[in-house]
Amino acid sequence: MNNIKILVVEDDAMVRNLIATTLKSNSYSYLTAPDGAAAIRIAASEQPDIVLLDLGLPDMDGVEIIRNIRTWSQMPIIVISARSEDADKITALDAGADDYLTKPFSVAELLARLRVTQRRLASQSNPKEDAVFVNGPLRIDHGAGCAYLNNEPLKLTPTEFKLLCLLAHNVGKVLTHTYITEKIWGSSWDSDMASLRVHMATLRKKIEKTNGIQLIQTHIGIGYRMLKVD
Ligand code: CA
Repeated sequence: MNNIKILVVEDDAMVRNLIATTLKSNSYSYLTAPDGAAAIRIAASEQPDIVLLDLGLPDMDGVEIIRNIRTWSQMPIIVISARSEDADKITALDAGADDYLTKPFSVAELLARLRVTQRRLASQSNPKEDAVFVNGPLRIDHGAGCAYLNNEPLKLTPTEFKLLCLLAHNVGKVLTHTYITEKIWGSSWDSDMASLRVHMATLRKKIEKTNGIQLIQTHIGIGYRMLKVD
């Protein structure tokens, strides 16, 4: 049995029912909201563990819901939007969404996203963070300012180390290009975006030569995410 309660915010009854059926048959408990007002009300009163949020709602933009929820809660929010709406996804992620699903999505995809989010929730509930971060073969010793892969020290440039720490700090969450460049360089000019691509490519080369375990996911046109591995 799954002790996770999910709020499904979707105005399209067919999609809503499909998601609800999937959740039910996978032992999740769920609530549904057909519009933004109901979503905010139910999120506040029922405190779900995860919100699945359609961005295009009849009464308000899904991004407004994210901003509202983020003023009082860090509950994970997975945004659902159409393929053509990359800009909306980026706005949603920058407003505080954790992840996104693109319509049309498969049941397998939906369940995979939920597992990623649950893994992150589980890792948050044990507060051993701070000094040493461990994720599968990767270990970051913040105190010493170094990182290890399978106990081998990684030779990272200062920028690569900063990038790695930023992704690790937000493990499980998709970070947009703008968010990352703002954090690393304090700006998000085209030149910063270009630098990010270069530093990320070299960082990935250094940390992904390990038994096929993928630590960093690229989201084309959107950003990057460090996956939580067991
Ligand atoms: Ca919709």
